[in-house]
Amino acid sequence: MNQATQQSTPRRRALIIAGIALALIAGAILVLAVTDDPPPSTSPPSGSPSPSPSPSVSTSPSGLTARLQEAVTVDGVTRHLEEFQRIADENGGNRYTATPGHEESAAYVARVLRNAGYEVSFDRFDVTVYEENAPSVLQRRAPSRTFFENSADFTTFNFSPSGSVTGRLTSVGVTPETDGLGGCEESAFSGFPSGDIALVQAGPCTLTDQVLNAQDAGASAALVMFTPELADTSAGVLRPTLASSEVTVPALAVSTKLGVELARSGTRVHLEVAGEIAERSTRNVIAEQSGETDDVVMVGAHLDSVPDGPGINDNGSGSASILELAVALSGVETREGVRFAFWSAEELGLIGSDHYVSELSDAERNRITAYLNFDMVASPNYMRLVYGDSLGNVDDPAAIKNLFLDYFAERDLDTDLIDLSGRSDHGPFERAGIPVGGLFTGAEMIKDREAARLFGGEPGRPGDPCYHLACDDIENISEESLDQLSDAIAFSVATLATSGEL
Ligand SMILES: [Zn+2]
Repeated sequence: MNQATQQSTPRRRALIIAGIALALIAGAILVLAVTDDPPPSTSPPSGSPSPSPSPSVSTSPSGLTARLQEAVTVDGVTRHLEEFQRIADENGGNRYTATPGHEESAAYVARVLRNAGYEVSFDRFDVTVYEENAPSVLQRRAPSRTFFENSADFTTFNFSPSGSVTGRLTSVGVTPETDGLGGCEESAFSGFPSGDIALVQAGPCTLTDQVLNAQDAGASAALVMFTPELADTSAGVLRPTLASSEVTVPALAVSTKLGVELARSGTRVHLEVAGEIAERSTRNVIAEQSGETDDVVMVGAHLDSVPDGPGINDNGSGSASILELAVALSGVETREGVRFAFWSAEELGLIGSDHYVSELSDAERNRITAYLNFDMVASPNYMRLVYGDSLGNVDDPAAIKNLFLDYFAERDLDTDLIDLSGRSDHGPFERAGIPVGGLFTGAEMIKDREAARLFGGEPGRPGDPCYHLACDDIENISEESLDQLSDAIAFSVATLATSGEL
């Protein structure tokens, strides 16, 4: 799951911080979209989709959905997750785009697919990545000497310029209240002592704008402090991204606790950032099983992690689920073809899926009748969230979402709708006019009481407290969620591939 894009509209001022904006907006939509009403009856009832019009299909659709759900087991999916964990362990703790951890993950997926009888192809593309040559350092030099902990107390902005800076800290707009203006107004920096290190509080503009304001005021480096309600919700500081190449000073994000501590007068700090922006080549892994018709159902999950952790829930869980489904589906005759995609560079902004869609000819694009996306399907504090349709046809009875709503309703499992606003790889497909759908079990957004009533788990905590952090490891998986959702994934793909219609 990609970190939310920062918004700059004042209306969303409380939601801007740390790229958490869209998740919270999504949370609000989620509450509004709770569906107590039964789904429209025009959609195929789950478990018994309309029979295939083609008598030559060897497996009846309902038989196939049942068989696939049986074949896709938690044990089978978990074996792939363990492999992703092993690969991360052996490659610096992550599976970030264009690193050995991702390359080996792609090779593993390709091997499993080939062993299952698929022809595998690689869709290569270039991507701009940020690589840290050494973990950043942040120390207080005065009034007392303290070393702060990277990722727990602070983190480096993606694409932060490098530098080693020691100096006096001057805070700007640190209140610390959620609705403070932070460093969003240039006027807040009037009188800022040139050469000082700026500490600003996240406000109603983008974090990048605040870093630029500090830089324009003469700051030698910028620390951006997250606001209290957000900083207390995760096991570390989420790494934000600088969205401008005009930034020339090193930039770090710090937790509220640390920011408040540093804002005291008389503080001197030392910081070091050693990062590099590089052009790299990476690849999506694609495999297809042809059907009786030319139509294709596409199923995708991103295989890359952030640089800060192994990405076992985000998104080993989706990757492993569709990989196990591909194995189970191999050799099974279906009406539509099924194409599996394991995307790279999702965490860098959906770059792999975007590249893939942009290369499709009109004819190729028209063959794709649906794109199903599975990103984070085993969050420890999970919610069963079904992608709504951000294109506005939420009431369309034929939408893919109804497949999932019906499926879970028949099993007495509650669901909510979520509008992910293109935060994962369905985005490029949706923009290309291809019907999309998918499932999601929660990232950094807080599970509220209503959600806890529906899904159990802990209210007041994120769906995945380890989202984009080092602790997103093999322990960070809800087997219950994985079990329910991997079955739903198998069901949806089998149904779409055999019914021949949406
Ligand atoms: Zn992610």
